[in-house]
Amino acid sequence: MSAKVPSDARTGETILQGIGVSPGVAFGRITLIDAAGYGVSDHTIGADGLAQEIERLDKAVRKSRRQILALKRIRGRLPDAAAAELGDILEAHVQMLGDSRLVRGARKRIQDEGRNAAAAMKAECDAIVTGFQAMDNRYLAARADDVREVAYRVLRNLTDAPKNAFAGAPEGSVVLSESISPADTAMMDPGRINGFAASQGGAQSHTAILARSLGIPAVLGLGAFHAPSPGTEVILDGTEGVVILRPAPATEARYRDKHAKQVRDQRRLEALIDEPAATRDGVTVRLEANLELPREAEIASRNGADGVGLFRTEFMFMNRDTPPDEDDQYTALAEVVRAMKGRPVTIRTMDVGGEKLAYALGDDLAPSPNPALGLRAIRLSLKRPKLLETQLCAILRAGAHGPVRILLPMIATAGEVRQVREILGRVAKRLRRRGVDFADPLPPLGVMIEVPGAAIAADSLAQVADFFAIGTNDLTQYTLAIDRTDEQVAHLYNPLHPAVLRLMDFAVQAALRARIPVSVCGEIAGDPRFTALLVGLGIRDLSMASTSLLRVKQRIRQIEFTAAANRARMVMESHDSGRIRMLLDDLNGLN
Ligand code: PEP
Ligand code: MG
Repeated sequence: MSAKVPSDARTGETILQGIGVSPGVAFGRITLIDAAGYGVSDHTIGADGLAQEIERLDKAVRKSRRQILALKRIRGRLPDAAAAELGDILEAHVQMLGDSRLVRGARKRIQDEGRNAAAAMKAECDAIVTGFQAMDNRYLAARADDVREVAYRVLRNLTDAPKNAFAGAPEGSVVLSESISPADTAMMDPGRINGFAASQGGAQSHTAILARSLGIPAVLGLGAFHAPSPGTEVILDGTEGVVILRPAPATEARYRDKHAKQVRDQRRLEALIDEPAATRDGVTVRLEANLELPREAEIASRNGADGVGLFRTEFMFMNRDTPPDEDDQYTALAEVVRAMKGRPVTIRTMDVGGEKLAYALGDDLAPSPNPALGLRAIRLSLKRPKLLETQLCAILRAGAHGPVRILLPMIATAGEVRQVREILGRVAKRLRRRGVDFADPLPPLGVMIEVPGAAIAADSLAQVADFFAIGTNDLTQYTLAIDRTDEQVAHLYNPLHPAVLRLMDFAVQAALRARIPVSVCGEIAGDPRFTALLVGLGIRDLSMASTSLLRVKQRIRQIEFTAAANRARMVMESHDSGRIRMLLDDLNGLN
């Protein structure tokens, strides 16, 4: 991530433009996430393990090369001169990962000194850098930075599981990195980290979703940038999608005003906490929370959630060396159920896979040529029934503390639901034999409608499921073949595409006919621009980031249901996304 971005010579500030994915203005100082955050262990390798250790190093080197080549592709966002300069730098980095002194030296240290790959790479990097610095030559000093950057990349790739990269981040940090995974985000403490930004990622990625849930302003998809020094003063605006390094006094004053206005708006919204979410003509809508981490239950409660419409349990599998056992899962889930004080909690079985990696699952999660279409979510659970049984046991036991519902991700066929129901029956019998308390009667078993095939077959799924939760994030991704995490196609991602709306409407109608509850829990549920359309289409249950609940409630209280239903009909008859957007803007009073 090294490129010169033009600075304003007059003020000294540098503006990086990306995609605003979590609203709010953050002020702070830059913390860079690099190998230093991961720690490098130094240990000896026995003679019989040396070849394998060298192969581990080579694999990390190959992965680093692939990452740099991918970065070369996204440098197009930069002005021409900066893009050319960055191209040269990245090319030099690619060379350093070929038959270079760095790689040869690290291999030799493994072979001759019996050191592990990370320690060997770090030692070789330090030796080269020290040598360059001793020569007191500005050109070589700059090359030393390149060597360090390349070596740290290899170190990151050698260290599989992200350890707590943010543990040492000072209070008031704005984190800047090339990429920030959902697992990384799960470790952020909003009390210390004021905001974060990364070169990669789009608005529907789980990194973005988690940032919104935790209320951390964030910008993704910055493309390549020249890494500023740690501690550089910064303003990040997660609505406009900008990161301003070394802001000028006038800029700072402007953003302080904006921030103060946001705080005032939030206070005004808080007056709605105990007010009903009902349209002006009396149609009530349930507003529920999407949670990723048990600690968010408190935020959901504070914002008046009617329940939890989606608890993404896959986050319980991240940032640990072994999968959580039944008791670990039960403890975390029971905490959420108790915190919701009798309001229903919808617990989704793990949706690991795709960008949501959980190293604890080890070989259960082998690399896939196309992870979004691979062995993930319910497919993984059914292939490894022990994992599913453990989860179901924990969910049923948590159900002894309050109402729960079980939700299945990535369902494509009725057969998958039947299989899970059978396993659920077996698990309940086992719990009864063990004499432990659990949900009795068994909780409702619902399915995510997020695969286009599931929406088209919604009639048959409604025969076997107790409720539907429409996941528009994946439904949009799979219907339009747009990777929701790829910033290069983020501009094409459009839940208002007629195909997506028709699939959604089809599933809603199937649920209404079968008289089973249906909710929407994709990101559009938390966006007030879509509220009137969703309510107009007959949806009476929306589940979203807790931080969006009050804004959506405010919108519901402005809506006239009959007008929304009429407009929803016009939208459904329209074939063109542009016209659909216009119809909605008009209904939202934006025209
Ligand atoms: C969805 O796909 O819309 C959804 C809610 O699930 P996730 O975002 O976890 O994939
Ligand atoms: Mg999904």
